[in-house]
Amino acid sequence: MDRREKARKVVEALEKEYPAAKCTLSYEDAWQLMVSVRLAAQCTDARVDTVTAVLFEKYPTAAALAAADYDDVFEIVRPCGLGASKTRDILASMKMLCEEYCGIVPDDIDTLLKFPGVGRKSANLIVGDIYGKPAIVCDTHCIRISNLLGLADTSDPVKAEKQLREVVEPDKGNDLCHRFVLHGRAVCIARRPQCGNCCLRAFCDHAQSLPGA
Ligand code: SF4
Repeated sequence: MDRREKARKVVEALEKEYPAAKCTLSYEDAWQLMVSVRLAAQCTDARVDTVTAVLFEKYPTAAALAAADYDDVFEIVRPCGLGASKTRDILASMKMLCEEYCGIVPDDIDTLLKFPGVGRKSANLIVGDIYGKPAIVCDTHCIRISNLLGLADTSDPVKAEKQLREVVEPDKGNDLCHRFVLHGRAVCIARRPQCGNCCLRAFCDHAQSLPGA
């Protein structure tokens, strides 16, 4: 089976397994997603949601957050870890958004990468979730499962994104990555994948390499 055919089967199987594919972070506006993904670095989504509930209530617009006091924001976001750099990036990115983009989050990856604290993973998530554009969100689950399946052969997120873009239908990539997260938490768990219960085992390189497969 070639990689393109395998990618199509993976998409189909995961669509059936996880009909609802959506971002695991809570947000109502594009700027809020930009803030949430920055806070999510080395932090759980559940904790980010708890913190942003407080942050977005106190600062309900990008402009309000851009004008916020550093120490106040730092105290709110500190439970997410890396408080100093996250506070600095959030304030700088909201300021840039308001001053240079009239508060409208850009819809292309290259422009998003200019914002403080926004990397390829965040930029892909924003263009995919907010604007419905082709996106591959190469987080830890996506990279790990793609490699186990044989859809990618690298742990480098930029290279993995490129390899997945070559074989996944453009309009399927964003939801596929959301489903990789769900599958990585429920079945293809790091260091103890539950291959016997996996809907992907028939076309997974790792499962096929196991004794008795
Ligand atoms: S068969 Fe096993 S290794 Fe392959 S995707 Fe499923 S759980 Fe992960």
